[in-house]
Amino acid sequence: MPTRTIDGYCLGIESTADDFSVGIVTFKGEILANVISAYMPPEGGIHPREAARHHAEVANKVLEEAFQKAGIKRKDLKVIAFSQGPGLGPCLRTGATVARALASYLGIPLVGVNHCVAHIEIGKLKTNTVDPVTLYVSGGNTIVAAFDSGRYRVFGETLDIALGNCLDVFAREAGLRQKPGEPFGAVVEKLAKGGRRLIPLPYAVKGMDMSFSGLLTAAVNLLKKGERLEDLCYSLQETAFSMVTEVTERALSHTEKKEVLLTGGVAANKRLQEMVKTIAEEHDAKFCVLPSQFAIDNGAMIAWTGVLAFTHGVVTPIHESFVRLRWRLEEVEVPWVK
Ligand code: AMP
Ligand code: MG
Repeated sequence: MPTRTIDGYCLGIESTADDFSVGIVTFKGEILANVISAYMPPEGGIHPREAARHHAEVANKVLEEAFQKAGIKRKDLKVIAFSQGPGLGPCLRTGATVARALASYLGIPLVGVNHCVAHIEIGKLKTNTVDPVTLYVSGGNTIVAAFDSGRYRVFGETLDIALGNCLDVFAREAGLRQKPGEPFGAVVEKLAKGGRRLIPLPYAVKGMDMSFSGLLTAAVNLLKKGERLEDLCYSLQETAFSMVTEVTERALSHTEKKEVLLTGGVAANKRLQEMVKTIAEEHDAKFCVLPSQFAIDNGAMIAWTGVLAFTHGVVTPIHESFVRLRWRLEEVEVPWVK
């Protein structure tokens, strides 16, 4: 059982998309529990209402397991944090309802956390980085961000679909099969190893922003025309990863920061890690990638960001705890970052 500290605990609830997760952390940043329950649609993509139903069904079990893992009681909690946005409405609302109910029942404060800020903060905590350029690539987000003047600024982002979504949709269109718990991105990664030929695909970097939908359509069309699956997986990865790596490199060059943090579900990809590591080294910057349990959507990141916010005077009264579906990273003041 983890050691207790005297300052109390924060419980964080993550529910922006397909994952419902509860994390419990100490005010010093020890992670006592990080329980994740992923919704797997029987077929096709995530339907927000189906995912929200999953979250409501598992909430109790996930909370219970988190308390057990952490070895603490409900009354030991000092604050409840929840992901307030951005994300899918029904999913966010389910997590917010659980968080409000818990906070009111226990008579403790509530803190609404920005999901993207949380990805960066848990990244900094777990990799000991201080001021990184972050490449956050997941099923729902593709963002290159760095801190400047009180906020995390978006240096580049996708103009349409997220990188992870591009890989997932390609895999589904190709009729690929996943093992239970295996993400489609990992299936594409495996097949890409058998790629022998780089097929030209649309490379769309516009200024510092990126677009993946044309690339996806082109790859799907070429597959239907009979191009080899492994070659397409390889080419899709090479093209899409070069795009995010190029934007990350320019952000690094512009900001002259000395750390690069790679996070989000797609960060698990070894080829992407290799590419981002190369540009970090070229700029004499330290390359850090988060272990998967903290790179994917997780409750610990919400709990930890809740601690940072709460200890800097941020609380969210219940009447302001409505969910923010399009809450942008740069809208959030982060007084804990200097
Ligand atoms: P998240 O949205 O952070 O929960 O991450 C899920 C996304 O990460 C999905 O789009 C997955 O397909 C993707 N993903 C997971 N593992 C890998 C991998 N090894 N390579 C590429 N993408 C991956
Ligand atoms: Mg997820």
